[in-house]
Amino acid sequence: MTSSQPAQHGHVYERHRSGRSGWLRAAVLGADDGIVSTASLMIGVAATGATSRAVVTSGLAGLVAGALSMATGEYVSVSSQRDAEDADRAVEEHELRNYPDAELFELTQIYVGRGLDRALAEQVAAQLHQNNALEAHLRDELGLRPAGLARPLQAAAASAGSFCVGAAVPVVVGLVSTAEWVLALVALALLALLGSLGAGLGGAPRGRAALRVLVGGGLAMAATAVVGDLVGTGSVV
Ligand SMILES: [Zn+2]
Repeated sequence: MTSSQPAQHGHVYERHRSGRSGWLRAAVLGADDGIVSTASLMIGVAATGATSRAVVTSGLAGLVAGALSMATGEYVSVSSQRDAEDADRAVEEHELRNYPDAELFELTQIYVGRGLDRALAEQVAAQLHQNNALEAHLRDELGLRPAGLARPLQAAAASAGSFCVGAAVPVVVGLVSTAEWVLALVALALLALLGSLGAGLGGAPRGRAALRVLVGGGLAMAATAVVGDLVGTGSVV
């Protein structure tokens, strides 16, 4: 049973949302990140009294830098996760080839540990070993599923892409107006919308999620506004 399909218990259908919310949460977080960091950057530059051209330029630079930094970070992180998964698989393959009896015993113990009585655990383990021993070990010993294997390039592209979508909003707004309050207002409205949407699709409470991103985003923009203001009035630097 995969978590994206409705589970049937008698006549009751239960829709699980945790499988779907994984990539969705990543995409929403990437967009949130793009909005908050780019809008904050532009507000900081705008607060120095810089020209609209400079404000929009800072936004564009922030978009490119942020997207590439997200892609690199995600690629490195998911690659090392994938390396660890591949190493685990190699160890299992080696052990299954050289110590099949010990591996069968190990799998039996796992099922006993999960509550099956020994006779049934032995039967289950033996049948799974006949069918696809490696898959059974990867899944039940290591918690890995073939469909769940980490994909570094895909993850990097997805996080860079969602960051760009989010970051493009304040840049486009900046083409119309670089007033700090306009940038902040549009960014906060979008953050609240995304927070509520992401929470709703994931089956979580909407209001609380929206409030969290609003507070976080608001603090970031307020902080860069203060920095820009101090620099603009010559108080620092
Ligand atoms: Zn094993």
